[in-house]
Amino acid sequence: MSKRDYYDVLGVAKSASAEEIKKAYRKLAIKYHPDKNPDDKSAEDKFKEAAEAYEVLSSPEKKQRYDQFGHAGVGGAAGGGYGGGGMNMEDIFSQFGDIFGGGGSPFDSFFGGGQSRGGGGRRVAKGSNLRIKVKLTLDEIAKGAEKKIKVNKQISCKACDGTGAKDKSSVSTCKTCGGSGSVRRVTNTILGQMQTTATCPTCHGSGQQITAKCNVCHGDGTVRGEETISINIPAGVSEGMQLSMAGKGNAAPNGGIPGDLIILIEELPHETLKREGNNIVYDLHISIPDAALGASVEVPTIDGKAKIKIEPGTQSGKLLRLKGKGIPEVNSYHRGDQIIHVNIWTPKALNSEERALLEKLKESANFKPQPGKNDKSFFDRMKEYFE
Ligand SMILES: [Zn+2]
Ligand SMILES: [Zn+2]
Repeated sequence: MSKRDYYDVLGVAKSASAEEIKKAYRKLAIKYHPDKNPDDKSAEDKFKEAAEAYEVLSSPEKKQRYDQFGHAGVGGAAGGGYGGGGMNMEDIFSQFGDIFGGGGSPFDSFFGGGQSRGGGGRRVAKGSNLRIKVKLTLDEIAKGAEKKIKVNKQISCKACDGTGAKDKSSVSTCKTCGGSGSVRRVTNTILGQMQTTATCPTCHGSGQQITAKCNVCHGDGTVRGEETISINIPAGVSEGMQLSMAGKGNAAPNGGIPGDLIILIEELPHETLKREGNNIVYDLHISIPDAALGASVEVPTIDGKAKIKIEPGTQSGKLLRLKGKGIPEVNSYHRGDQIIHVNIWTPKALNSEERALLEKLKESANFKPQPGKNDKSFFDRMKEYFE
């Protein structure tokens, strides 16, 4: 099925402002709302189509991708992002807080809102979110990683296909609500009579009643199980960051929408390299002769070993920079640097021969400290580091 152009769906020009896009969507959402068009499949489709168009055009980042690449630029899993795929009713209703502004949602008052609903006004249960921790080495953070993780969670019951019913004949339409999942009430308020909708107390919104329960899940529709989930972690993530994968959490009872999988990132410390934002800091120790005579030394980096040149007369505390050898920014081509902090190693014990040599050098004028003459101060170096 080919998709319609999102601008055509909302009936706005490509140059429309964010406010115009929002206005156009609000109009369509009210017009095609399932509660206003019960059992009207074409209205439901238009409702979903408008929500999808708005979801893309209201996000500056997605809008830009759409303008550039069309539907392929924002198309579900192919887009490379998390939470791809079509929108379900749950997503659409959760968008409304944004569209109609906080407590001012007309759906709160006219449609007994705030709750999640399925097609045709039925309420759909949502599975709980599942949280897991993923430990990553600095190397994995720098390059991105694909992790296969076995999780223990609620999965849909295979015996009853998630319905919770023993067989097809043990599912019937709810007698209280006639299958709509909601009951309408008329209440008198100071503004006059107001019609509100409440979730059906008998079926809790599913619209169905089960006369005989599944033997395996005892009517829940879910059972405890294991699933191996493949998680693509982009390069550049950091400690405490959370990624979410829509629909990979716990299955919902009675065939509802599964929850999300929330992945909490943990960084494992590296033996010699330390992360500072997107930069990598390395403490290098060189000998007094190497500092005075100059040398070529090897340092570890994220991409393996690198050779660096130590200029003759290098002072302790000097900062060297390896451009682009740091951590990439998430979803960007920009990479931090590796900063090398030079320390000059002073021996702790001396034999008599070494002592004699140093005593001799002590007399030389060149060995007397002359701060500020040829080298940058600590403050200048710090400034350089933060630039
Ligand atoms: Zn009911
Ligand atoms: Zn079952």
